[in-house]
Order: sequence, then structure tokens, then C-alpha cells
Amino acid sequence: MENVVISVGAIIRMKPEEARPRPDSLGDMSPQDFRRYGHQVVDWIADYLAHPERYPVRSQNQPGQVKNALPSEAPERGEAMEAMLADLDRIIVPGVTHWNHPGFFAYFATSGSAPGILGEMLAAAFNVNAMLWRTSPSATELEEVTISWLRQMLGLPEGFSGVIYDTASISSLCAIAAAREAVSDLRVREEGLGTSNTRLRLYCSEQAHSSIDKAVITLGIGQEGVRKIGTDSEFRMDASSLARAIEEDRANGWQPFCVVATVGTTSTTSIDPVPQIAEICQREGLWLHVDAAYGGSAAVVPEMKWILDGCEHADSIVMNPHKWMFVPVDLSVLFCKRMDVLRQAFSLVPEYLRTSDADQVQDFMDYGPQLGRRFRAIKLWFVLRYFGVEGLAARIREHITMAREFAEWVDLSPDFERLAPIPFSVVCFRAHPQRISNEAELDTLNERLMEEVNRRGKVYLSHTKLKGVFTLRLAIGNIRTTREYVKLAWDELNEVLATANRG
Ligand SMILES: *Cc1c(COP(=O)(O)O)cnc(C)c1O
Repeated sequence: MENVVISVGAIIRMKPEEARPRPDSLGDMSPQDFRRYGHQVVDWIADYLAHPERYPVRSQNQPGQVKNALPSEAPERGEAMEAMLADLDRIIVPGVTHWNHPGFFAYFATSGSAPGILGEMLAAAFNVNAMLWRTSPSATELEEVTISWLRQMLGLPEGFSGVIYDTASISSLCAIAAAREAVSDLRVREEGLGTSNTRLRLYCSEQAHSSIDKAVITLGIGQEGVRKIGTDSEFRMDASSLARAIEEDRANGWQPFCVVATVGTTSTTSIDPVPQIAEICQREGLWLHVDAAYGGSAAVVPEMKWILDGCEHADSIVMNPHKWMFVPVDLSVLFCKRMDVLRQAFSLVPEYLRTSDADQVQDFMDYGPQLGRRFRAIKLWFVLRYFGVEGLAARIREHITMAREFAEWVDLSPDFERLAPIPFSVVCFRAHPQRISNEAELDTLNERLMEEVNRRGKVYLSHTKLKGVFTLRLAIGNIRTTREYVKLAWDELNEVLATANRG
């Protein structure tokens, strides 16, 4: 069989094997080549995921190494896929820190599962823009369906619907924008904040994520518009301090408008007392936003449902399936009870985006600053269906169990100590050999210990500071992490510490 291609003024006969990019043919890669290279790439990914031991978890690159290995200008003529795939192995992979590696315990360990990766591939293939229902009904309706599934899985009441954004930072930004919109007579949409005498104030604990500060900076509320509430010995917001702060601020002319409670704080994964905070918000008429970006996923585990106690009273809740639900980055869900207010904060429909079905459907462009939106729901749908609620719960439960086991080793060791409780799957600890009591010396020891363990490349841990103390964090959340890898982390820590003691 010959393919017939019409070109300007002439008919060129091409054999299939010649159907490669040529200077005289326009358009995309041929379907044959796409199939061939597509299989190669999928094979490459399968090998990559099957043999993580080939790679140091944290990239060992020096700054500039990738840039220096690449030409300073784009190629004038198209190149062969073979050359690109070779450079992937030679240049790109060494500069990748392997978040999909089972030895990844830094920050919040996240992972893109195989069904999630396949979903991502299809989203790229469709390449729809999910701004309006009309511009791809499946994208909008699958988003609605997966959000509703997730709501039920987490045990949240029916009053919540929601929207998918890229990250928790943007989810919280939009929630806080809605909270500001809910303040009556502010007219910030029309007049901006400059003309108003109202000084808005938002409350969160001193352990809240930096994205809350960034949101208030972006929204023009300013860092002075955030009041950080103190925490108890287990890093949970002190609700009575919150009530006092609101009262004091009102007396001093501030207008409190929003409280952000955190379920699973970033440093220690502590859980703020949401039921008490919700009661204060109800009494004071404040928007309650719950940041459960990491911790929320754990509510699919039946015995962990309690972590969202009180959240039924929240106005909005963010949780990230891309954090601890095995969906590739990025995908964050904002649940919201007052979608009308969120819409009011952002909706602006120019003539060229008007459709006749706007009153029957949701157009998700109305619920945030961005117009163009990816078809993110498809990878969430794949992950939820492939693993099922039970399968996801079993994996998350296992992560929690492994964290508790690691914590037991820490508690029993004469050389280590634990620095926070473990509500989820993150262990905060440090090396503390009995011969050292000087805090500065302990900080230095732990920093060096972490650097050396990470340099060796078998596992990757990160740190935080708790009450001024340099604290190691072991975060379990990768779908490929097994007990063997958790044990490896413990062995690495002990081996490096022993070497340091001898040295
Ligand atoms: C990770 C995290 C965030 C930020 O998440 P992004 O999706 O990266 O913006 C916010 N809050 C908490 C509690 C987190 O753990």
C-alpha cells in the first residue's frame, strides 16, 4: 500500500517507511512514528518505575550542569527522536530528583501512580481547554463527578461541591478571595482595596503553610492582615487564643473575615481543633477555610475519618490528590459550600465567551482567575477507579503503619529522639547521642547527618525547625515505598551517625 500525499502542484508518492518529517512536508509526526516512539517511551517509563535502585533519589547535579550540557539556541532543523531520547538519559535523568522513587521521604512524599500517568497522557492527547462546559463537556462533568466521589470518600456532607485547581496554594488563594467577597459592603471587586478604610484580618496558626501568607499578599490584604495564633505543645492552634485575638482586633478597628485551620500542618502534620474553631467562626460570622492539602487524603481510611471532624461546618476545604492520593502533579481540589460567592469573586464573561447553555451547566472558568484549564479530572478518575476506595485506604493505612514503626525504632534508640506526635505518616525526630547536650552542636550534627544520608543517594529526607531545633522529617507517602525502604532509611541514618561518631 502506498500513501498518497497532496502537495503544492504535484502528487508525491510516499512509501510508509518514508513517512518521516521531511523539509517538504508540514504537519505533525506521522501516526506510524507516533506509535513507534510512543511504545518506546512507555517502555522507558515502565523500566524507570521498575528499577528505581538505578538512580540516586536526590539529583547529584551541580548548579548549571543541565544548562551547560544543552545548546544555547533551538535547533534550526528538526531532529530525530532517537537523539532526543538519548539526551533524556544522558542529560535530563541525572538532573531529576526522583519523587517517584520509593526512597523519597522528603517534604511530603508524593507519587504519580501508573494509572495516573496514563490519565495524564490522555489529557495531553485530548488537549482540551476546559474553560466552558461547551468547550469539552466531558472535562467539566468528569470534574463534577470525581469531586462528588471524593467528597463522599472523605465523609463530607452533600452541601459541598467544588472545583479542581493546580495546587493547594491556588485553592487557598481562591477560597480567601471568596471569603473577602463575602464581606458585605466592601465592594472590593469594583473599587479595589485602596479606597476602603476597612482593615481586613485573617487568622491561622503559626504552623500554617506559607501559601496562606502568599495568598494574602497577592490579594492585597498584606502580611499585617494575617494574625498568627499560637499553638499548644503538640503544634495545634490554641482556640481560646483565637477567640481572644478576634475580640482584641475588633476593639482595635480591624475587620476579621477569615480563619484558616490546618488538618495536617506542613512541619509536624498536627491537626488544629476544627470543631472549636468552627464554633468561633459561626459565632463571629467568619469564613472558615480548612487546609487539608496533605492530611485530607487520610480521611478515606475508615478509622481516620475523625481527622475531618468539624469540617462539615467549614465554608471551604482544600485537599490535594497529587499529594497523598497517587495522582501525578498537579491536581488540587477545593471543596466549597458557597460556590455562588466563589463565582461572584471571579466571574466575568466577555461576549466572545458567552454560550446559550450557561444557565444549565457550570463553566469552571467562572471560579478562578484563569481562563484556560487542563483536563485534570481524567487522571483522578483513573486513579479512583483503578485502586478503588478500599485500595486507596489500604495503601494510606500502610503508610501510617510504617511511620509508626519507624517512630518506634526512634523511640527505642539511645541515639535518636522523637520531636512530635505522629497523627499521619510523617515522623519528626533527630539524632541525639547521649554524649552531646549542647543544642547548637546537635543542630550541626543533624544537619550534617541529613546532608550525608541524602548525598549517599539511597533515600532522601528533609528537615524543619521546631521550637528553634533542627528537626529531621521522614515523610512516607509514595505508593512504591515498602517496609524495606523504610528500614533502609533507618539503616542509613544509623550507619552515617556511627561513622560521624567514630570520625
Ligand atoms: C503542601 C501543602 C500546601 C501547598 O501545596 P501546593 O499544592 O504545592 O500549593 C499547602 N498547605 C499544606 C498544609 C501543605 O501540606
